[in-house]
Amino acid sequence: MTHQDPTSSGTETEAVDAPVVVAIDGPAGSGKSSVSKAVAKRLGYRYLDTGAWYRALALHTLETGVDPEDAAAVVTSLEDFGAAYTVSLDPEVQAFSLNGHDVTEEIRGPRVTAVVSAIARVPEVRSWINRTFRSLIAGVDRAGIVVEGRDITTVVAPDAQARILLTASEEARMARRSAEFESHPAGDVAEQLQRRDRADSRVVDFMNAADGVTTVDSTHIDFDETVDAVVRVTESLTARNSHGSR
Ligand code: C5P
Repeated sequence: MTHQDPTSSGTETEAVDAPVVVAIDGPAGSGKSSVSKAVAKRLGYRYLDTGAWYRALALHTLETGVDPEDAAAVVTSLEDFGAAYTVSLDPEVQAFSLNGHDVTEEIRGPRVTAVVSAIARVPEVRSWINRTFRSLIAGVDRAGIVVEGRDITTVVAPDAQARILLTASEEARMARRSAEFESHPAGDVAEQLQRRDRADSRVVDFMNAADGVTTVDSTHIDFDETVDAVVRVTESLTARNSHGSR
């Protein structure tokens, strides 16, 4: 894996010794990717979309003829995947490529979405990917990073200064997903989302806030209000945690 930073100009927020880590968990359709990205832009932080990694690995297995249900074969393909995958941590330019091909759109497609939970439940895959996430977080070159996924507050970065569970009612999540995939029948989108939530929640609990995690419920607020709420919670938690650590 390489980390590309096409826009780093040295003019943005200066790096500090201990970058702030904002960990955001939540189920599919809670808006966590778009909200997390907007929060990172607002704060001048890096942004790590962990779901994109599982998706890119799923695409890599499909493209290389590995059966996503064959856990041992998926584990064997990790090294190749690591060498082939290039990511951006810049919230302004989210681009992912595999072997030099831009797969930013493709990893969101139905072919990948249908198999991603199968590869994400393999423990060796999770520990390999989590090690990589931790090393990206440790090497961050800005004042902070927003890390978003399903197990970030509990497994990947349990020591993050701000730990947030972004949630919304099932109805609201389905309505948002259906709007995102206008060309797909609403029933199909809802069914796929429920199936994926069920499969994923067997691996990690992302529906309930763990101890010390602040819940932001976006059911009755719009996108901008949700971004504002997450920024407010982040600022108050990071202020409190930095006072507490003095
Ligand atoms: O967030 P997104 O929908 O892109 O995630 C795609 C899939 O990757 C999830 O359905 C889940 O199976 C897996 N995933 C995970 N842990 C994460 C992020 C994603 O298991 N931290």
